[in-house]
Amino acid sequence: MDHFTLIDGALHAEQVPLARIADEVGSPVYVYSAATFRRHARVFRDALLPLGRVHLAYAIKANPNVAVLRLLADEGYGADVVSGGEMARALAAGMPVSEIVFSGVGKTRDELARGLDAGIGQFNLELEEEGRVLAEIAAAKGMTAHAVLRVNPDVDAGTHAKISTGRKENKFGVPIDRAPAMFDRLARLPGLDLRGVAIHIGSQLGDLAPLEAAYARIGELVAALRAAGHTISRVDLGGGLGVPYKQGDVMPSPAEYGAMIARATKGWDVELMFEPGRVIAGNAGVLLTRVIWVKPGVTHPYVIVDAAMNDLARPALYDAWHDFAAVHPTGETMVANIAGPVCETGDTFAMGRTIDKVASGDLAIFRTAGAYGATMASTYNSRALVPEVLVDGDRFAVVADRIAAETILAAERVPEWLTR
Ligand SMILES: *Cc1c(COP(=O)(O)O)cnc(C)c1O
Repeated sequence: MDHFTLIDGALHAEQVPLARIADEVGSPVYVYSAATFRRHARVFRDALLPLGRVHLAYAIKANPNVAVLRLLADEGYGADVVSGGEMARALAAGMPVSEIVFSGVGKTRDELARGLDAGIGQFNLELEEEGRVLAEIAAAKGMTAHAVLRVNPDVDAGTHAKISTGRKENKFGVPIDRAPAMFDRLARLPGLDLRGVAIHIGSQLGDLAPLEAAYARIGELVAALRAAGHTISRVDLGGGLGVPYKQGDVMPSPAEYGAMIARATKGWDVELMFEPGRVIAGNAGVLLTRVIWVKPGVTHPYVIVDAAMNDLARPALYDAWHDFAAVHPTGETMVANIAGPVCETGDTFAMGRTIDKVASGDLAIFRTAGAYGATMASTYNSRALVPEVLVDGDRFAVVADRIAAETILAAERVPEWLTR
């Protein structure tokens, strides 16, 4: 559920008319609802209450805006970060450093050292060598790195191939059958406190069964590691819960997820950690856009909007669906293709879709754009970097400026030898 609803015939974000935001900030623009973020944060936390103390590490990559992070920090969330840049954001937002998890398959030595210096709560190791290097850097600093080993359970999460992470051919984690031997070797290293394991099998999961199967394998691994004499105090269960993108889509609820986790982790006797991203941010944002033209097409007209694949990459990357709605719907519909101005056929949001009837100059939104939206934006075709607005009740603020193409141009140089 979200807070982007019609009030007196006009779409609002909470109490703010979207048309007002378009007037004041221009378009395209991402609009986030603070109430929706808070609600999702609470519903997810509440679903896990029966598990006792859990660690909630919001996966920053889903929506790393610093205002969003501050809001989630206020809800008691830490962060899952996958780069030095994301770590800097989490710290800037005031997230407690002990509740920051450093994930990522390609953390550099420099990033590992920066994480140690900052006092990162947990490093999720993706390969044995990374553990050795981290131990070495920590020992040289007279520090101890707290870490868990990410395992790849070889399960098919049943989601889009490009966001599946838990099959053996994927680049993530260590093969689960080799994990016990690696754990033995790593746990002996000075400078490393290896206290458990982590797993994350993919994103936009619409079925809990693959997760439950993966967690069952983790349960067996934990038992085997303990039998080998290791102290296992932490298991990081990752993120991945899907959200409904299409009206009528049914996704597992956080409550069902919580009940499954309780079942799957019964008797583990560890502190559990979660890394939700999309489920917190997805429905908390929309991409507000203006129709530039309605261009006649062969079968259907093309609604050409001022948002494009550089602003919202998901349709081009994953053939993703985003519901489209007019800000001032007339009640009439049309069948149309929806596309942006970028010079790629992939810059298409929908084909042959029944949508609210729109004309050139009308405002519209792409729904469920709060996760993996602005964070993936680029300036392709020398378009501006899309701005972000946070609404909270009847207030709103620009929380990321539009970065003009001219500003980006100003950061480029023609070398002296090419100047005339
Ligand atoms: C992307 C990612 C997440 C978040 O996934 P969602 O599907 O957004 O919940 C969590 N953990 C890791 C390691 C990730 O890479």
